[in-house]
Amino acid sequence: MATYEESTLREPLGPREANPYATAQEQFDRAAEMLDLEPAMREFLRQPQREVRVMLPVHMDNGSVTVFSGFRVQHSDARGPGKGGIRFHPQETVDTVRALAMWMTWKTAVVDIPLGGSKGGVICNPKAMSQRELESLSRAYIREVARLLGPDQDVPAPDVYTTPQMMAWMMDEYCKLTGRLDFGVITGKPLAVGGSQGRGDATARGAWYTVREAAREWGMDLSSATMAVQGYGNAGSYAALLGQELFGCKTVAVSDTGGGIYCEKGLDPAAVLRHKQETGSVVGFPGAEALTSQEVLELPVDLLWPAALENVITGENAERIQAKIVAEAANGPTSPEADPVLYERGIHVIPDFLCNAGGVTVSYYEMVQNYSRDQWTANEVNRRLDGKMTEAYHAVLDRSRAHDVDMRCAAYLVAVERVATAVRLRGWI
Ligand code: NAD
Repeated sequence: MATYEESTLREPLGPREANPYATAQEQFDRAAEMLDLEPAMREFLRQPQREVRVMLPVHMDNGSVTVFSGFRVQHSDARGPGKGGIRFHPQETVDTVRALAMWMTWKTAVVDIPLGGSKGGVICNPKAMSQRELESLSRAYIREVARLLGPDQDVPAPDVYTTPQMMAWMMDEYCKLTGRLDFGVITGKPLAVGGSQGRGDATARGAWYTVREAAREWGMDLSSATMAVQGYGNAGSYAALLGQELFGCKTVAVSDTGGGIYCEKGLDPAAVLRHKQETGSVVGFPGAEALTSQEVLELPVDLLWPAALENVITGENAERIQAKIVAEAANGPTSPEADPVLYERGIHVIPDFLCNAGGVTVSYYEMVQNYSRDQWTANEVNRRLDGKMTEAYHAVLDRSRAHDVDMRCAAYLVAVERVATAVRLRGWI
């Protein structure tokens, strides 16, 4: 893993294909070229505006002190306060956080909400930590990055291995520091402390609205469609649950870090979730065959949902992907080598920062409710979310058809143009 000191160099470190920051920059460069952006704009937007590394000493339950490293990266606040989740992950790197911050900028722009892009991360293994240790770490992280945060500056949210409870601790710590009830400093909170209805399943629900539109365009009947899901966490499990509930879609395979499971007749998504909650993994679900997480990606299904981590569909396996639609619930699951292969093979990829923008959109609704001391119903949240996602999907599809480019490139063209316009209007470049 690259250290922070090494990777403060402008160019990403390590093998390019394994570095999400390199992927994010390469994707941006292609859009910048097509938009004929001026050189200063390219230099400005292809790297973060601001970033900080923090050291976080935590008193562990066994009496020792462990010093964790964390990051907060603010890629762009040209269109509004930064927005982006906080990951707790053992393999977290600053380059991953940079890439994710960049993707947040494009994500908020593509769904046209008045926010920028940021991301945070802490290198830790939450699965091996107690609730008390996680609370101490969550509070320590917020204390260290608080001066960069605020409802008008930068607003974090949950991401991989962080939870609504952790958001509540972080919000509480921030409020203690400022002496104000700034609930809107963080989103993804539990309902009882300023959370929003509909935030829990927003990422998957928003993704489903884009899949519904894609299915209409391609004449796919979702009620007889099959799907496979890699990653059975928040995004992946809700993708399976909502697929069944909203469209009658059949999930035949899912995976998590432990491996994959397959059942041709279809899995019961709620029962698989209970099994994972009870045993820690989807593996061993009664009546299902064992598969590897990689095999789950390559099944002959209508819909494939990468909903785990980056770089899982690559130049190596893109030829073997058999799905008709790839709904990228995860951030960065497809490498730049894989994109043209999928496009030439006629596979419709709904790119990450469009597909999974439902989470940040409902986070934005949470901020709006916090600001105005209001509470919306789940129906109201979902109705607004549907409108945003449907509009964004068609803006990207139209661009893709007009320029004869894949959906990812089209999403970049829409998003980068909006951000560049804000930068110019503010007189920065
Ligand atoms: P999560 O922690 O709830 O779940 C992640 C899941 O992925 C877990 O089930 C884990 O076991 C599984 N996983 C990890 N490595 C795996 C592997 N190699 N093979 C198979 N499964 C693996 O996280 P989440 O919030 O669901 O996030 C998943 C992805 O969705 C991430 O890329 C995240 O950035 C993206 N995302 C999440 C949200 C959100 O609101 N939760 C919003 C936008 C994007």
